[in-house]
Amino acid sequence: MSSAADLAMPNAFVPGRGDVSPENAGLIERRARTLGPAYRLMYDSPLHLVRGEGVWLHDETGRRFLDAYNNVTSIGHCHPRVVEAIRAQVGTLATNTRYLHTAILDYAERLTATFPTDLSQVMFACTGSEANDLALRIAKAHTGGQGVIVTENAYHGITEAVAAFSPSLGASVDLGAHVRTVPAPDRYHLAGEDVGAAFRRDVEAAIGDLKRHGIKPAILIVDTLFTSDGVLPGPAGFLAGAAEAIRAAGGLFVADEVQPGFGRTGEAMWGFERHGVVPDMVTLGKPMGNGQPISAVVMKPEVVDRFGRNARYFNTFGGNAVSCAAAMAVLDAIETEGLQLNALETGRALLHGIEEACAGVEAVGDVRGVGLFLAVEFVKDRASRTPDRERASRVVNAMRERGVLISISGKNHNSLKIRPPLVFTRENADLFVSVLSDSLKATA
Ligand code: PMP
Repeated sequence: MSSAADLAMPNAFVPGRGDVSPENAGLIERRARTLGPAYRLMYDSPLHLVRGEGVWLHDETGRRFLDAYNNVTSIGHCHPRVVEAIRAQVGTLATNTRYLHTAILDYAERLTATFPTDLSQVMFACTGSEANDLALRIAKAHTGGQGVIVTENAYHGITEAVAAFSPSLGASVDLGAHVRTVPAPDRYHLAGEDVGAAFRRDVEAAIGDLKRHGIKPAILIVDTLFTSDGVLPGPAGFLAGAAEAIRAAGGLFVADEVQPGFGRTGEAMWGFERHGVVPDMVTLGKPMGNGQPISAVVMKPEVVDRFGRNARYFNTFGGNAVSCAAAMAVLDAIETEGLQLNALETGRALLHGIEEACAGVEAVGDVRGVGLFLAVEFVKDRASRTPDRERASRVVNAMRERGVLISISGKNHNSLKIRPPLVFTRENADLFVSVLSDSLKATA
């Protein structure tokens, strides 16, 4: 039986929809018995993975899948440079921030050097959720405010404070009384309106509503690629007005770079740079350690001043030497292997190929993307742009059956979410496009 909570997650496994081998049915049953009811699997036929390498994932039967969905092992599965950095550090010293150690300092200096000079301090945690939770605490101390503004289908994480401003978790997870949602800056659905002006107007309305309820704004926080709102890359520049609006109201602008960061857009190391804004704080996670848990808040020193004077910060695993070594290896790889440029160039070729594959497919309303983050939006009718959730789901599962992994995004679950590792090659992109083409035909 599927519950409302299952249906809140795009591309969630719903028992009975797809083929499941007896062995995997046994694992699903074991999961339910020991892990309880809160976890979700993906795809009509869930994947049982045993090994990864570069852009490939291998299942228990030895079949390999082209991974076009991975933003954690963003520089490729089991990248040798990261594997070796972890091995060397964990075999030398694994310790925390209560001791002097150079790994955290070398990494912090290297990381902050990739940001605009105002963003010169960094604090470490282990997950994106923790980073966003910390950013909110810092912002509350700095602004004296409580109010949080997010987009309609935003996801920022799982702590109690952060789940309260993650509306994509679905109607059964309560938003805080201090939280306001605004429509995402969606060029396709705004159809000709100025995206930046519309977003600013909506943020100003949310600020007004918070104030009317006696709530002082603390932050406007956005994923700068609006990953869960359907992947919204452009037009670059649309964030500037909204950032101005929150600052004018005494709040801070926080860029959640957990998805777009570390070169994925190809055009910049950080998604906010494409919009010509310098956030007050930036949160990082997922791809930062290529699988080793590490996350961070990067900020302007004046923003963290009050918090730091009043509260102690010790995070046992946050900024540990092993995670810092892994994260350093990730930056090395992005730089020495030219992965940001590859994201730009391979991303362009992939976008072009997807556009060609979708040309003439009546159900495709929009194709969009920047670097190696792309989306295809399905509609029942191009004029009304009515979402076609079923078609999107069938295409994702048809691609999975044909050996290519992607998923779904958007509040209506009707956009393909395409997010390959940064080491994706032209050959991988060609294979992707041919499988997409076949899957569009097979689901017509
Ligand atoms: N922010 C964004 C934009 C995310 O996509 C995610 C994870 N999907 C998070 C925060 C939370 O990160 P984590 O799962 O590491 O807590």
